[in-house]
Amino acid sequence: MRRKVIAGNWKMNKTPREVRSILTDMKDKICTEGVDVLFCVPAISLVAAVESVKGTDIAIGAENMFYEEQGAYTGEISASMLVDAGVKYVILGHSERRQIFGEDNTVINMKVKKAIEHKIIPIICCGETLEQREHGVTLEFVEEQIRSAYYNVSREEAHDTIIAYEPIWAIGTGKVATSAQAQEVCADIRGCIERIYDRETADAIRILYGGSVNASNAEELFAMPDIDGGLVGGASLKPEFADIVEFGR
Ligand code: PEP
Repeated sequence: MRRKVIAGNWKMNKTPREVRSILTDMKDKICTEGVDVLFCVPAISLVAAVESVKGTDIAIGAENMFYEEQGAYTGEISASMLVDAGVKYVILGHSERRQIFGEDNTVINMKVKKAIEHKIIPIICCGETLEQREHGVTLEFVEEQIRSAYYNVSREEAHDTIIAYEPIWAIGTGKVATSAQAQEVCADIRGCIERIYDRETADAIRILYGGSVNASNAEELFAMPDIDGGLVGGASLKPEFADIVEFGR
């Protein structure tokens, strides 16, 4: 039985002061028993976020990082910096990074490997556009994203990674995938992991669904056999996030 993960993605929202205030308020309303809960916040607020949840089992994640150790990469943040700040997770390959900032599968693979090297758990995002879904190439496209992300990642290293299946047409649109649609792709991703590694690894990796998850649809989505929780954008900034966590327990 895989432990569920409920991860909030705050994207480019909230100042450090606001992050501190929201998390201080939210942490007492969230029950983490039986579930892994984390908030991914903007880089400038990571330290404030880590301090705000101190003494709880809530973890903090970054929304991105660079694959080099250090050096002349203006504006970038390294894995060591995240570790030093107390960050445990990092979202990699979010569709907004892929579409707006041009990150491709090769870059994402390099970031995945660097995160693993520093024992930061990568939350590897994948997902198709509406056009790809309509053309019936969803599974093939997502499988390619997964195969690339895990290129040269050993079975042992893959074990503790997390995948988030996020159909692009469902992110921030209020248009949630049906539980059957989400389950179909998550099951296929698990099959892909089994083909790359083995059944044990496929059974260990947690696969989240993301895309307009809220307190009204979370229960049905999380009840699917291959959906091990959610990557939650908009709703993770609202009090309903505590209810979403409840459905993961
Ligand atoms: C996301 O940011 O990854 C996401 C799924 O956003 P939303 O829940 O707002 O669709």
